[in-house]
Amino acid sequence: MDQRVDNLIKNWQHRYISGIYCVDKKEAADRILEIIPGDASVGLSGSVTLEEIGIIKALEARGTNVFNQYRPGVSREEGLDLRKKGARADYYLTSANAISEKGELVFFSAYGQRIAGISSAKNLIVVCGINKITPNLEEALQRARQYATPLNCKRLNWASACLKDGICRKEICLLPDYKRMCSQVLVIEAETAPERVKVILVGEKLGF
Ligand code: SF4
Repeated sequence: MDQRVDNLIKNWQHRYISGIYCVDKKEAADRILEIIPGDASVGLSGSVTLEEIGIIKALEARGTNVFNQYRPGVSREEGLDLRKKGARADYYLTSANAISEKGELVFFSAYGQRIAGISSAKNLIVVCGINKITPNLEEALQRARQYATPLNCKRLNWASACLKDGICRKEICLLPDYKRMCSQVLVIEAETAPERVKVILVGEKLGF
């Protein structure tokens, strides 16, 4: 195992965060299916990582009640309702934009719904590829802002100041000229409720 992973899992223990290492996507999806009981409800935030491991489809296929705002045909109003229900579900699934080697978890959000879900979830599962580990918090914030967000803006054709060339211009990335994607920032440094936060760290490149 990567020494950084070993250190991270130890660091998380001191922060009341459970770190679980999985070698690949399949092991990660199997592990999440074991953790989430079949009759639990699940909320989620949009994430390439979750798509890549196929966990939402797997949960829906076994009959778990997933508040999935991204299901085809869901209207904007229904989507907002599903997001609210998802934040109050038994489990909330998401990915981080970056993780520092000390164990800080960094999340960026446009409207704050993801942050509400993460902060208020009864049980939070964060899935992250090892490509998102950075040496420290400062570089984690930089990764989220200068690397992950521009790629997400491109993926979603989001009218931000980095859409055209992938370069962050946060000073001018404001309405009415631009629609900012990274409007709210959450850093989880530690947890107070044991077992509330689990990080599934996957030994592959996932998401961005
Ligand atoms: S502040 Fe604006 S320009 Fe910078 S990364 Fe975020 S969305 Fe892109």
